[in-house]
Amino acid sequence: MAELLPRAVNVNRTEGSLSVVWPDGTTTTVPLMELRQACPCATCAEARGENPHPGLLEAPLPVKSRSRGLPLLGDVRKFQISGLHHVGRYALGVTWGDNHQSIYSWAFLAERRRPDAPPAV
Ligand SMILES: [Zn+2]
Repeated sequence: MAELLPRAVNVNRTEGSLSVVWPDGTTTTVPLMELRQACPCATCAEARGENPHPGLLEAPLPVKSRSRGLPLLGDVRKFQISGLHHVGRYALGVTWGDNHQSIYSWAFLAERRRPDAPPAV
């Protein structure tokens, strides 16, 4: 399997998007809002109402009261990146403006390549 280690990762704070340049020259651009909403961590999956144990639950989980408040949807810091770091050779770690940490594997980001962005070959 070809190595999925990007040439570059750029954050466009003006546009509010993250671009990944792949070894073959193609680029994945993901709006930060979309990226945050796709955060694969358990906390966010649960907040999105995804069932972490498919097949085990038939009824939706009751809404739990949380001791720590979740950021409001209108909280723009939630969709701003305050830091990026490599997680080994397989993933990108993102620290958001509200201090939430997300890890996106390169494979996950590669899957978000848009069909309207043809390879630059
Ligand atoms: Zn998360």
